[in-house]
Amino acid sequence: MRIKKRSRKWDLVVPVPALFQDCKAEVRIPHTSSVKGCHSCLRLGRSVCVECMASGRRQCGLCSGSGWYFNNQCLACGGTGIAVCISCGGMGSTVCSTCYGKGKLLWFLKLKIKWKNNIHKTVLYKHSELPIDQLEKVIGENLFTEMNQLVYPVVSFPDNAVNAASREAVRAHQAQFSTTCRILQQRQTIELIPVTRVHYSWKEKTHIYFVYGAEHKVYTKDYPVKCCCCSIL
Ligand SMILES: [Zn+2]
Ligand SMILES: [Zn+2]
Ligand SMILES: [Zn+2]
Repeated sequence: MRIKKRSRKWDLVVPVPALFQDCKAEVRIPHTSSVKGCHSCLRLGRSVCVECMASGRRQCGLCSGSGWYFNNQCLACGGTGIAVCISCGGMGSTVCSTCYGKGKLLWFLKLKIKWKNNIHKTVLYKHSELPIDQLEKVIGENLFTEMNQLVYPVVSFPDNAVNAASREAVRAHQAQFSTTCRILQQRQTIELIPVTRVHYSWKEKTHIYFVYGAEHKVYTKDYPVKCCCCSIL
């Protein structure tokens, strides 16, 4: 198989990770490999040592090049003021870091793949005092689940607003992703999250709180006394 056109990238068989989870992978495209000479070292496998500019020698670090150390001849350089370059061991060159000394490189096309779980959520019958993000933290009662490569809009749910929301979600997903991505699988669920609005009086003032989700979580914006724990079961 030879990849000739951009569109043929979908022909490459790649193991699919777990569905509905974000993931990344890189795959070498078959039949695109070739060996070329290393451009960094011109196939030599070694590069000029930048520490000594290929001389293999450097100023002695102990005597700073003077040849003398506390009025005595420097023992490190024998009084020459010059020492062997530590970086290259005096060779004036180092192993090429691009080809690791091989002098050649393997070139190939690499396909980068990103799996992304794109979620479209619609909350119907919102309470203005109960933030939507609170509802995302709880479990509701699952009324409907469909999983397929492409799901269809729900048309026969007793509440028409749910049908309309499903229609819009399927349309929006198709419009946004069908041309730029490959849709592997879609899952559509309808959940019913029970929400109870409770009015109560405290010191002659009326307040409200919400009990919501299967876990019976409690939310209130203006709890009058914040010194005790409240749990409703
Ligand atoms: Zn050097
Ligand atoms: Zn020295
Ligand atoms: Zn090289």
